Amino acid sequence: MKLLVATKNAHKLKEMREILNIPGLKLISLLEVENPPEIVEDGSTFKENALIKARTVANSLSCWAMADDSGIEVDALKGEPGVHSARFGGEDLSDAQRNRLLLQRLEGVPMEKRTARFRCVMAVVSPDGEEFVAEGRCEGRIALAPRGDHGFGYDPVFLLPDGRTMAELPPEKKNRISHRYRALQAIRPVLVKLMEARLG
Ligand code: IMP
Repeated sequence: MKLLVATKNAHKLKEMREILNIPGLKLISLLEVENPPEIVEDGSTFKENALIKARTVANSLSCWAMADDSGIEVDALKGEPGVHSARFGGEDLSDAQRNRLLLQRLEGVPMEKRTARFRCVMAVVSPDGEEFVAEGRCEGRIALAPRGDHGFGYDPVFLLPDGRTMAELPPEKKNRISHRYRALQAIRPVLVKLMEARLG
């Protein structure tokens, strides 16, 4: 069975495939669909945005669809960039430039006040409009400087309790602790049930 994932982010799709790995369930991204629907991500929470993405795809392609919305919340910035994580500092910045900007905004903030978390909300929507939602979080701090070459986005500046940044973890380690891993584990029973219903 195919599940359409409402993303054009190849990194995210790869992580989702590695984490879920449900026999018989094939994750397809919008990159593999001709004329994908346009998605207007104008929600003000991760949950709203995840549902908007999954609903748009499920409706317009009449299929089961899954979407995640994720980002990083920094307590010293009152939860920003939050839902604006992908566009923090402007549309055209690279990940490295965005990380530099984040570090600049936190200049002078001591380590104990640099608490932050990655959040991920996963939404699954059926072609008939049934909706399922689950969330995962990963707590940490913002490092003083970027480190590590793995992952993407804010991984090089996200410090884990063991002192490594998320970008210093090989993918298989990140995929056992990340917000996306936790959200996918929480939504897994929905997908397993769906597969069982299809097969049975
Ligand atoms: P989304 O595609 O709207 O969910 O945007 C999420 C943004 O949050 C990404 O562009 C990244 O900047 C950031 N983000 C989400 N998940 C991760 C992660 O696992 N590592 C690093 N950055 C992430």
